[in-house]
Amino acid sequence: MKAIIATWPFGLKAVESGWRILKNGGSALDAVEASIREIENDFSNRSVGLGGYPNIAGFIELDAAIMDGSTFRAGSVAAVRNVQNPISLARKVMENTPHVMIVGEGATKLAKIFGLYVEKVDLQPEARMEWERRLKAALSAPQQEGSINFWMKMVAEGRYNHDTIGCVAIDDNKNIVAGCSTSGYAFKLVGRVGDSPIIGSGLYANSFGGAAATGLGENIMVHNVSRKVVDFIEHGLPADEAAEKTVQYLLKIGKRIDHISFVSLDKDGLFGAGTTEESFEFAAMSDVFSEPRLLKVEKGARLRL
Ligand code: ASP
Repeated sequence: MKAIIATWPFGLKAVESGWRILKNGGSALDAVEASIREIENDFSNRSVGLGGYPNIAGFIELDAAIMDGSTFRAGSVAAVRNVQNPISLARKVMENTPHVMIVGEGATKLAKIFGLYVEKVDLQPEARMEWERRLKAALSAPQQEGSINFWMKMVAEGRYNHDTIGCVAIDDNKNIVAGCSTSGYAFKLVGRVGDSPIIGSGLYANSFGGAAATGLGENIMVHNVSRKVVDFIEHGLPADEAAEKTVQYLLKIGKRIDHISFVSLDKDGLFGAGTTEESFEFAAMSDVFSEPRLLKVEKGARLRL
């Protein structure tokens, strides 16, 4: 059974775009890339792509990755600047280099080679205003000489200002692909990288299932959340139960677990989601749900359709 699932209400647009490809016999790889590009190309989105909030220095640094579960090929870019579609750059890393992950300046250079480089990047007016406002507040706060506290205060305040487009799809050939893309933690330190481009943390796929995460990257990455979900699927649980088990595991651990959400999909085309927040909304389409559906899962609970 074909299916596609994506994080957050903005995932509705993403799954529609990916579904058009799956429906016409296209691959999960093309569907996931197209879904994510749809959101990257929406400059009104403040947490994905070049419309996103910048880092503390006012530059947009993007993270993205894609993983093909049938071949275990993966591509990832982190802290890359001047790229509108980092997911496509991640795919280029996967298909055209011997590497899995390229960061920073090297990724930007690669973008030039693959025609994905954008010369001039202007912050969206609202993103610029917000960055300037926070910078002014940080700089006008009482300072101690030689202290970096005001920077840390500004960074700490961005803590919950972020989201990721995470997407997982399965095609007619039962190939499962996971991908994600984000501008990351708003007003982060220069060079900060979250979970999204890290295989096993922000995303994972194999022939049993796939998962993609969103939330506070610092927490998601220490628990390897996506790999954890797929482990449960691999051990025989359907995607919704695997999601529930993963959240129960996180709640049991009880440390560094706030703001973790994810979507999951298994080889039978069943999907699920989990969250350590009160609730989490995501979008899905499949052979059974041929209209885009916005669904919600409650903290610690199994998805009810
Ligand atoms: N996980 C992303 C990051 O930490 C942001 C998010 O999904 O909310 O960069």
